[in-house]
Amino acid sequence: MSSCTVESAVECVNLLGLSEAKLVAFFESIGEKKFRATQVMKWIHQYGVTDFDEMTNISKALREKLKQIAEVRPPELIKQLDSIDGTRKFLISVSGNNAVETVFIPDGERGTLCVSSQVGCSLDCSFCATGKQGFNRDLTCAEIIGQVWIAAKSFGQLTEKGPRKITNVVMMGMGEPLLNFDNSVDAMNLMMHDFCYGLSKRRVTLSTSGVVPMLDKLGEHTDACLAISLHAPNDALRNELVPINKKYPIATLLDSAERYITGLPDNRRKITIEYTLIDHVNDRPEHAHELAELLKNIPVKINLIPFNPFNLSNYKRVSNNALRRFQTILIEAGYTTTVRTTRGDDIDAACGQLAGEVNDITRRSARYGLTGVASEEVVNFVGGNP
Ligand code: SF4
Repeated sequence: MSSCTVESAVECVNLLGLSEAKLVAFFESIGEKKFRATQVMKWIHQYGVTDFDEMTNISKALREKLKQIAEVRPPELIKQLDSIDGTRKFLISVSGNNAVETVFIPDGERGTLCVSSQVGCSLDCSFCATGKQGFNRDLTCAEIIGQVWIAAKSFGQLTEKGPRKITNVVMMGMGEPLLNFDNSVDAMNLMMHDFCYGLSKRRVTLSTSGVVPMLDKLGEHTDACLAISLHAPNDALRNELVPINKKYPIATLLDSAERYITGLPDNRRKITIEYTLIDHVNDRPEHAHELAELLKNIPVKINLIPFNPFNLSNYKRVSNNALRRFQTILIEAGYTTTVRTTRGDDIDAACGQLAGEVNDITRRSARYGLTGVASEEVVNFVGGNP
């Protein structure tokens, strides 16, 4: 890896996390042509190169100059675990004594990478283990795209030709991506860039719990897919499960989501509705009927997620009967309704089991009885944005 030789690290620019526009601006600011941005993007994201000396279509003089002022620094991979079902989990160190997890889930031809956007989460959804950890900070763009870079590299995707393992990315790991708007958007746009990972815009999804003002702006910055963490068919119940609903209630959220999806150039896309099913909380037939009514005339598909229990939660996993009944009602109402199957159980990589290490600055983790960074409890059950 190339490291800056400038004396002040503050001036050293990590090129890994620069969007195309920022990379162009960087090269122009040092008196270079803007096509250098394209060349360097390809080296970093298509070939996994971090050493400027390996960027052989760049003049030696420019390589020397870059070594003085810039670097390509991915976050550090601490641990990689492989499940017998092909799921792969990455524990990735990010600065400030924190770590986040990223999970790759294979499913036939499809391989989905679940990426984190923040260290912890400032929202406190009652069914989410990440929320219990509190919050430390937003991830930088380099730390978000670095998760994709590390995973792609682990599959040889950056050095070998052949079918790509990572076909889809969901911004559904730790954190609320719309509260880290610029870095999440820049990272998603790098994922979809032809000179980077070249993922289709139909295969990169941002999942939000409902930060409506930022959702209203999203369409100006990206055309990725959208998932809404809904989890309840009415405001009274959603206020309990997803507290941000008190600020931005369901009707406001769905209006904003619909404006985003119908404003996309290819307006045939659907919003994914994420609904975590919790035993005797939101899993009754009347909830399913209410949900069907709520979503009438909105272009959606529904993804049901059986709740994965964790120690600090009194919630229980939905019964198989209730799950089937709920799904049937929605299918009969005309909705495409899938159930997320549990994967990577043997490496604690199932939804709601992701492990991170959050140096909490909110004191929320203490309130829930967690005792600081990387406590055993945290590592065992910290989850993400279901
Ligand atoms: S579900 Fe998402 S928004 Fe809610 S606390 Fe968890 S990570 Fe944050």
